[in-house]
Amino acid sequence: MRHDVIVIGGGLAGLTTAALLARKGRQVLLLEKNQGLGGYARSYSSHGHRFDIATQALGGCGQGGVVHSILSELGVADKIRFLACEPARVYYLPDGSLYSQHGFLKAQQEELVQHFPEWRAQIHRCFSVWQNLFAELEAIATLAPGQVAFHFGRRFPHLARYGRSTVHDFFEELAIPEALQMRLAARAGYAMLPLHRLSLVAFACTEMSFAKGAWMVEGGVSRLAQVLRQAIVERGGRVRSHSRVTSLLSGEGRVAGVCCGEESLDATQVVLACAGGDLLATLPDLPAKYLARRQGLEPSGSYFISYYQVPAASVAGLAANIEVWPASAPAAAGSRDEMEVYYLLIPSLVERTSAPAGYHSLCLSVPLPPGQSPDRAQRRRLRQRLEEEVGRRFPQLRGALRFLFELAPEHLQLMTDNPGGAAYGWAQTPAQAGVHRPGNKTPLAGLYLAGHWTMPGGGIAAVMTSGRLCAGAVLQDGLD
Ligand SMILES: Cc1cc2nc3c(=O)[nH]c(=O)nc-3n(C[C@H](O)[C@H](O)[C@H](O)COP(=O)(O)OP(=O)(O)OC[C@H]3O[C@@H](n4cnc5c(N)ncnc54)[C@H](O)[C@@H]3O)c2cc1C
Repeated sequence: MRHDVIVIGGGLAGLTTAALLARKGRQVLLLEKNQGLGGYARSYSSHGHRFDIATQALGGCGQGGVVHSILSELGVADKIRFLACEPARVYYLPDGSLYSQHGFLKAQQEELVQHFPEWRAQIHRCFSVWQNLFAELEAIATLAPGQVAFHFGRRFPHLARYGRSTVHDFFEELAIPEALQMRLAARAGYAMLPLHRLSLVAFACTEMSFAKGAWMVEGGVSRLAQVLRQAIVERGGRVRSHSRVTSLLSGEGRVAGVCCGEESLDATQVVLACAGGDLLATLPDLPAKYLARRQGLEPSGSYFISYYQVPAASVAGLAANIEVWPASAPAAAGSRDEMEVYYLLIPSLVERTSAPAGYHSLCLSVPLPPGQSPDRAQRRRLRQRLEEEVGRRFPQLRGALRFLFELAPEHLQLMTDNPGGAAYGWAQTPAQAGVHRPGNKTPLAGLYLAGHWTMPGGGIAAVMTSGRLCAGAVLQDGLD
């Protein structure tokens, strides 16, 4: 049987692509190596607690946001409920001050103007540039490479000006003081890069994806995968679990299908919605230059995360989403084991059903640079230090943490095949973000990319955007 499109990977990018294509009448088959769908966006239960494994907060879920608009387009928006996180996050900043970030960008902007009235013009300039960068990148993402270069500077003035800038460069240009920088770029933590390495375009995309609030999913983030699956099958698409794609097939200069072990499946178009470097390497028809360029790219970092049960009373006065820069840890570049920053999440403060009565669910996480995966002994030490630090900073939690389980980069890799457990695909440096990130189209006819290893980048709103862009590219090219 020949399929119109085979989508490899049942993360949110693959599911979005497949659902949008099925809705347009394409005969779609989605293949997922695991039993469960969602990729990183999965919920896991332990001792009556439900944790969203790889989600601190989702952007784009409010009216007009990208996640909401994709679900509406698919006719499933009423099958899922999002819960607003307010404040979006509370930051214990390196200078010892506290910053409570409003969930909605407009309100966040107004609060910043109130605190830094003399910097009003620069604050507005920042948000306006970020908004324009995001809009231009969205417009560019589905264009064929030949079309992009045409009058680039005139059509995409912000990308032309800032495409190679870091967030630090931009703040320098506007002479923004450090205290304001820390607040304006508070969400930079999502990219796991310091401001002098973080692409301004990538940061703008993350910031804009949270323009309509920060959210959690009622019933757990797995619900999102479930409703997308439903949207696929309702339109006649097929979803197959336990189906690992082992190689890609090509012939006569275009993609021809995929192999799952011994089984070969024919398709006119194939979407790679997973890391898939090993699969691309099996294709003799892909230009060596394309493969060599990918080999030169740097993956994003990963996380070490530990999950706990805590008595309900012990979280009194705490926010659901907290970022802490421990005052004791010098921010020495390159010594991440010094624990520059950590995250404390209490998701059950927003989604009450995720913990049993009388308790809350809590997780602690630290970002790790690419390639660093602590062994068992190192993990024990890291966890001990995290728990000590948390006990010092939040005395009400001292002795209250009951450890449930932990995840390290090696476990995240096992879940999804993302090399090194990379949390966001390629690192979002200027050389690998925006128009410099691998696009949705590949040089091989009929082969496309979706997900956080392609445009526009990592994070749930971004990978669902990439699914939408990828579906658009597939439809644009047609089945010939
Ligand atoms: C710890 C952590 C915290 C995070 N926090 C946030 C957050 O707060 N907010 C946010 O927006 N984002 C967050 N992210 C990032 C976000 O989860 C990811 O960017 C996004 O979910 C990636 O989606 P994806 O569909 O591109 O890829 P994935 O989720 O990696 O999905 C790829 C799928 O492909 C399957 N697959 C792989 N190889 C094959 C094969 N050969 N054959 C068949 N199937 C295959 C995998 O099993 C997987 O299901 C976080 C990530 C991590 C790790």
